Amino acid sequence: MTTFISLRQVITSVVLMSLFAATIKRYSPTLLASRFSKPITARAMHIQSIPMWEGTGNNYAYLVSDEKTKEAVIIDPANPPEVLPHLKAKVTSGFNLTKIINTHHHHDHAGGNKEIKRSYDIPIIGGRDCTLVAETPSHKSKFKIGNIDVTALHTPCHTQDSICFFLEDGSDRAVFTGDTLFIGGCGRFFEGKPAEMHKALNEVLASLPDDTKVYPGHEYTKGNVKFAKKVLNNDAIKKLDEYSQANKETQGKFTIGDEKQHNVFMRVDDPEIQKVTGKKDPIDVMGALRSMKDNS
Ligand SMILES: [Zn+2]
Repeated sequence: MTTFISLRQVITSVVLMSLFAATIKRYSPTLLASRFSKPITARAMHIQSIPMWEGTGNNYAYLVSDEKTKEAVIIDPANPPEVLPHLKAKVTSGFNLTKIINTHHHHDHAGGNKEIKRSYDIPIIGGRDCTLVAETPSHKSKFKIGNIDVTALHTPCHTQDSICFFLEDGSDRAVFTGDTLFIGGCGRFFEGKPAEMHKALNEVLASLPDDTKVYPGHEYTKGNVKFAKKVLNNDAIKKLDEYSQANKETQGKFTIGDEKQHNVFMRVDDPEIQKVTGKKDPIDVMGALRSMKDNS
């Protein structure tokens, strides 16, 4: 009897063990794969768009953070009532807000500085004419947001103090272009000349890696495509047209490489655009395009 029970116990144990082994065999490859498939240097740059004055200015502020070091900065927080709740949420979740960054001095970009500083007394990094600016980084100078590398790129024309900020976290790249470069367009030449915008777009920004995602200061894509279609027809413009009809927001969805294809201001050497503008020299083409757009 005793032997019989022991045998039953043994059999039960063997069955249970086989079942357990089968389960391990079935699930362990997946578990192992998920554990080791993550890249060793996981990227941690996080970009949160904050739309402001939707339906009128269609501006964007951007809350950029390094999820590893928990450092965050706010770019162009021009309308504090729309921005402050997001800053509060970020800080409450354990992030350290270290800087206000401005792309240029216009009120719809730097106009919120004073009020933001009342809640968060942090330095303002930006163009020389920005309200309460503490530091204007020189062209191509670098600083850090946690582990994210930032390079300041001077792009005077829309304003003389316009600066684009290029951010790199491993192979993850983004550029915050203010009112210099828009998806499919560029800013008006309020304080500069066509030669300066040509340099800003087609030398400074065009030299960034093609996979750099573009985060402009406004959602102007629909209007830009409408104009682009008048001066050039290519597949990239058609694609941008379709995308902007189907999506309200286009920031961060296109790269510098895409802009070289669908942005007419970055195609001043295109024979079709030269023909439409009646100009050959790239700077003359730039000037003619801007006038046409301003009067369209
Ligand atoms: Zn502006």
